[in-house]
Amino acid sequence: MSQKVIGLIGGMSWESSAEYYRIINERVRDRLGGLRSARCLMWSFDFAEIEALQHAGRWDDATALMIDAARRLECGGADFLLICTNTMHRMAAEVQAAVGVPLLHIADPTAARIRAAGFRRVGLLGTAFTMEQDFYKGRLAERHGLEVLVPDTADRATVHRIIYDELVQGRVEPASRDAYRAVIARLVERGAEAVILGCTEIMLLVGPQDSAVPLYDTTAIHAEAAVELAIADL
Ligand code: GLU
Repeated sequence: MSQKVIGLIGGMSWESSAEYYRIINERVRDRLGGLRSARCLMWSFDFAEIEALQHAGRWDDATALMIDAARRLECGGADFLLICTNTMHRMAAEVQAAVGVPLLHIADPTAARIRAAGFRRVGLLGTAFTMEQDFYKGRLAERHGLEVLVPDTADRATVHRIIYDELVQGRVEPASRDAYRAVIARLVERGAEAVILGCTEIMLLVGPQDSAVPLYDTTAIHAEAAVELAIADL
């Protein structure tokens, strides 16, 4: 019996897709030992094309691209799919409906870990799309019973700007780390028991030492959940 083939819809940005690839392979080695590594496929977008559609509000066109990528991976032999960005889970339902293999939604293993740790009120950092629209917060609340706090308007703008102007371009700036620390501290003051790093590049900038409460890194959680699914039947 072989591992299932993980299909990764990536390139959003490649900075975080590289982390997915590393974490998935390290996890397979840790779980199975020796020379074991992951069976996986990645479709990697030119992120400039995706970013332009996001900021123009052209979500239907972006959805068509996500579906196209999902179908390519399915045709290539993927047994299940991951969208390697929180933001593009906006169209998760449409992507799932377009293919015959399961889509592992990033919010589900994240929420499961938070609930298992006994937390209920969580802060959420991500792009403005993720923090402000309902597709992500709504799933956390309705499916998983979490109360979600997002930063105030000015802090959301800072968090969003640092993602697009720096992190997805591979820039990790100490001043931006300080800004994120301050945003996290304000969420904690408002009662957040834990904070979700709900953008797959934020883990490049902050870690446990930057927060008084536990941080939930969606990149690692999603990648690790993929491995558990891939090896479940071995
Ligand atoms: N990787 C980011 C996320 O997890 C932002 C890039 C994107 O907009 O897809 O939301």
